[in-house]
Amino acid sequence: MSGKFNIDDLIKLSSFEVSASEKAGYEKEIDDFLKYAEIINSADCNDLTPSAHPTESSAKLRMDNQVEWDDLERILINAPVRDKSAYLVPPQKARPGEEKESASTAIIAGSHDEYEAVIGLEVHAHLKTKSKLFCSCPTEFGSEPNHNTCPVCNGHPGVLPVLNHEAVRMAILSGLALNCKINKKSVFARKNYFYPDLPKGYQISQFEEPICSGGFVEIDDNGKPLAIKLNRIHMEEDAGKMVHVGAPGIWGSKASAVDFNRTSVPLIEIVTEPDIKCAKHAKDYVIMLRSVLVQLGICDGNLEEGSLRCDANISIRKVGETKLGTKTEVKNMNSFKAIEKAIEFEIERQIVLKKTGKAIIQETRLWDENSQKTFSMRSKEESHDYRYFPDPDLLPIILDEDYIEELKEFVPEYPLKKKYTYMNIYNLSEEQSLLLINNSAFTAYFDKLVSIYKDHKNASNWFFNELISYTNDLKDIHISPENFVEFLGKIDSDEISGKIAKEVLKKSFETKRALVEIIEKDGYKQITDEKELKKMIDDVISANPAQVAEYKGGKEKLFSFFVGEMMKKTKGKANPAIVNTLLKNGLTS
Ligand SMILES: [Zn+2]
Repeated sequence: MSGKFNIDDLIKLSSFEVSASEKAGYEKEIDDFLKYAEIINSADCNDLTPSAHPTESSAKLRMDNQVEWDDLERILINAPVRDKSAYLVPPQKARPGEEKESASTAIIAGSHDEYEAVIGLEVHAHLKTKSKLFCSCPTEFGSEPNHNTCPVCNGHPGVLPVLNHEAVRMAILSGLALNCKINKKSVFARKNYFYPDLPKGYQISQFEEPICSGGFVEIDDNGKPLAIKLNRIHMEEDAGKMVHVGAPGIWGSKASAVDFNRTSVPLIEIVTEPDIKCAKHAKDYVIMLRSVLVQLGICDGNLEEGSLRCDANISIRKVGETKLGTKTEVKNMNSFKAIEKAIEFEIERQIVLKKTGKAIIQETRLWDENSQKTFSMRSKEESHDYRYFPDPDLLPIILDEDYIEELKEFVPEYPLKKKYTYMNIYNLSEEQSLLLINNSAFTAYFDKLVSIYKDHKNASNWFFNELISYTNDLKDIHISPENFVEFLGKIDSDEISGKIAKEVLKKSFETKRALVEIIEKDGYKQITDEKELKKMIDDVISANPAQVAEYKGGKEKLFSFFVGEMMKKTKGKANPAIVNTLLKNGLTS
């Protein structure tokens, strides 16, 4: 028997290092297995009757009969109108089902306090890698359709996926920043379904063994941190994008095209436990999560472009009950505000259904921004419907502790902590703090600014009211925080007035020249020379004898007229304090 295989060849093939005792062990194991296979192969089963769990032969084989599927008519209700062998798709005003929906969502008066909502969120985040998850195609948004594609991401026969190291690094970073357990072993699985934007017929995702488990995201709850529990973070590839001709969606479009540029772009999916109680918390959760991902530099967090997508699983139950109610999944929420509005709407819709004795159906619903309502899209699948199984083309990801440790130093301070610092130490408003924590370049610039310039209030005034009104791109800005502090110093020492400073800043953004250079070379420096100013004041006084007489006669309001004349004369560059003193002297002498 052992003559049929050569253990040395096998060991060589596997490229494992094997000791002599291991070799003997393997040899015996394989030998036993082959003997067993031989016994099975030569067994005579012709007269055997099934002893347990017999399977009806009709379940394995069926007669060649045609039977029309009962549900076909129902499925085809929404299909385009057929004209012989072609389809006609007349433009439709609304998605099917709208009329029925709006009738059932009439507002029911009275308190809904007896019900509570249970919300879980699934957030898909595009990772900012240069290439796709399993091939080297570019991931850029907005390229020519189908130009960022290759046989691997298009699922041609005979190709094999090769995992992108950077995507794994980014997924681990997200887990570290969100307090997850990083799993030493994770496995890619195939999620099987049909849709035209999925060329392989399955999506490579992670199912039973995701890269990160557990964790939490802290949000602000009236000044105190509140932890939203996470279930997992897993890696997966994105699908392609359908483009519908002549309509925003498939309904009413004349034809649909598919763009595979997005196919296999790396994603992480961050899944919460059903741990969120209201729409506001759901919105705050996504804001905080986005901030973490953006600060990590692994996602650009653009909800409108879809680099961050949020789906909400929503159910309601009577207060005090522990069993979860039937849930609906709401998709298509493209802004923070939409997340809050859609969840509020859906909770209300479910409560109304419950109160009017109607059933809540487990389904996927789309948020419609125009009507501010959710609409039924399809019945919701269960995960077992996708027939997940480990992808035989990919090895498990095995991580070692040292690598995970190494990555910990790249995790920035948690944004909620930072938000509290901005509000409590630097007295920024909530809005300003959120602006900072949602933009890593803003954070870096502002932190540097207040670390080298002590008047924090003045620094934040100039930062929020002036600097970022010119640009949102502080990463490539021509004014460094050091330059800006030098500029603020010129205002503090009265070398330039605040008004002039604003002009200088504007000019600097128009010409990309340095602030200090503009002040010095373009004559923006304040005139502080008393002799020079005295001479000009004498000129102003002698040019306006009537006003001087009135002023001396008691009309003191005219003082500002003289200041104005001086500023006109000096193009605003006269030092106001010196002008005031000299003018007073000049007018009373
Ligand atoms: Zn590709």
